[in-house]
Order: sequence, then structure tokens, then C-alpha cells
Amino acid sequence: MEEVSGLLYDIQPFSVQDGPGIRTTVFLKGCPLHCPWCHSPESQAFYPQISWISMRCSGTEVCKESCLKACTKGALEKGAMGMDTLTQTPIQYVHVNRQLCDNCGDCAVDCYPKALYVCGTRYTVEEVMKKVRQDKPFFEHSGGGVTISGGEALSQSEFTLTLLKQLKEEGFHTALDTTGFAPWEIVEKTLPYTDLYLYDLKHMDSDIHRMTVGVPNEIIKDNLRGIAAAGGKVQIRIPVIPQFNDNDDVMRRTAEFVKELGPDAVTVVQLLPYHNLGVAKHLRISDEIVFEAIPPSDARMEEIKQIFVERGIPAMIH
Ligand code: SF4
Ligand code: SF4
Repeated sequence: MEEVSGLLYDIQPFSVQDGPGIRTTVFLKGCPLHCPWCHSPESQAFYPQISWISMRCSGTEVCKESCLKACTKGALEKGAMGMDTLTQTPIQYVHVNRQLCDNCGDCAVDCYPKALYVCGTRYTVEEVMKKVRQDKPFFEHSGGGVTISGGEALSQSEFTLTLLKQLKEEGFHTALDTTGFAPWEIVEKTLPYTDLYLYDLKHMDSDIHRMTVGVPNEIIKDNLRGIAAAGGKVQIRIPVIPQFNDNDDVMRRTAEFVKELGPDAVTVVQLLPYHNLGVAKHLRISDEIVFEAIPPSDARMEEIKQIFVERGIPAMIH
């Protein structure tokens, strides 16, 4: 029988942001949502993508145009001029024409600084297990474990379920970082193998949710109610996005919804202030203009936190 595999864009050891203790986070590629503020835009597409990082590029002269010559689709062209950070001399950058590029990866083969690279690699469950087993001593000393994240991990449900089962079988603490946008039949199957859900809530109004991130929110709210009713533990994550959900009314409605889930289910509400680190990452894979805003102030974040605390909900910023 063919081994179950998943399309990943990273496996990150020593993570302290994705659940309790020191964790290894497995990032799956592909997401049914398209949040304009996404801080990992490379996670959105369900296929491997050619990416280019300007800071790594040494310029076409140094490389004798090897990448340009490798592209037989006419998709790689000379782009803007850059500056060599060491010598402070002008260098010729390249540019991926996304209309012509089929993400074959040929141009990346001889790019030694890895300015061009293919984002997205298939791993079998056993290949992931081999990596996380190496980190086990760090988990044991810190109360950590393994987090499966994305993208949306439940979009690759067979891989995610198989990995969760294997992790539990070997005694790892498991966390599942999810948008909640998946059929309940899939979410339900994760319950016996998931110690903690890191569950995103973005907006209580379904129309605004759909217009902004591309999908409605009813299924997300229903799945969260279902997890809570089944005894699952949930850490709610709310990205605080200017002009989207950072007003008192939205946050009050969110807090009321969270309160209904009950203190047994919700371990904490994590308020994540918008930051613009995703903008530079977005340019690695796209020419499109991306959402950019002024991050909320510390004082505003504190006010939002109080909306939850006043209702007896434990809350933290970041
Ligand atoms: S993308 Fe890579 S191969 Fe092409 S010029 Fe830059 S460093 Fe050289
Ligand atoms: S990934 Fe393939 S098609 Fe795209 S720029 Fe590179 S060589 Fe050309």
C-alpha cells in the first residue's frame, strides 16, 4: 500500500509560539481561506511554488545567468537592479513572470544561494516522525510536543489524521493549529488524538468573513462548538486586524461567543496583533499588491484584552 504523504512547506523545531513548551511545528501547504494579512502567504497555495528572496540573490552576473538560461518557458527575466550588501555595488536581479511560470523548479537547481527555491515538499508520515523523534528530549524537559499547522492541516485530512494517530501512539503531546474550516466528520476524527486545538476566530459576521477571507464562518463556529461539547481543549487565536475586527463591537461579540463555549473547553484566548512581516514574504511568491496596515498599539491591545477578561475569559496578547 502506498504510504500516506502530505505537502509541507516547513518543519520547524524549537518553536515556542505554537502551544505549550518547546515544540516542533509541521507546516502543511494549502489553505481554503485567503486572509489578506496572512503572515505565511507561502502556505496558501495547494501546490509547490517557485519563490525568490532578493536578499539572497547575488545577481545574474555572478551566476552567469544560469537561472535565466535554465528556464525554458520564458518565465524568468531580468528584473529590477539591486545592491550587493557586501560590496555595495549594483547587481541585476531576476523576476519571475507568474503568468508564464509553471513552478517546474528548473531555475532553482543551480541557484547556490537559494535565492530561487521551490516552496513545498512531499513528506511521508514516517519521514516527519523521523524528524520529530529527534526533538523528543526537548519536549520532555519543557512539556512540549508537536504542532500540526498550515495552511489548513485539515485540508490534507488523511495525512494529518495519520500523523496525529502516530504521534499519540508514540506518546507525543499534540496540538492542531486550524482555521476550523473543514467538514465536521473530519474534525471529529481528530478529537481522540489532539490534546489541544489552536483555533482561529477572525470575525463573527459571516458576510464580512466571507468577503474578506473568502469563506463564511458558520462551519468554523459550529465546529468549535462541537469540539467544546466533545470535551476538546481549545486555545482561541484572534488576529487583531485594523479596519477588520479591531473594534469593540466585533470583539464583544467574539467574547460572548467564546464565553458560551465554557471554561472547561477554552484554555486561553490569544490576541495576535497584526504585523506586516507577511508583506515581504508575499513578494517572494507574487507581484500582487498586498494588504498593509498600521499595527494596533499596545494600549489598544490591552483594551481588547479587557473585553475578554471582564467576561471571565483568560486572555493574553501574543
Ligand atoms: S536567482 Fe540565484 S542563480 Fe539567479 S542570479 Fe540570483 S543568486 Fe544567481
Ligand atoms: S519555476 Fe520553471 S517556469 Fe518558473 S521561472 Fe523557474 S524554470 Fe521558469
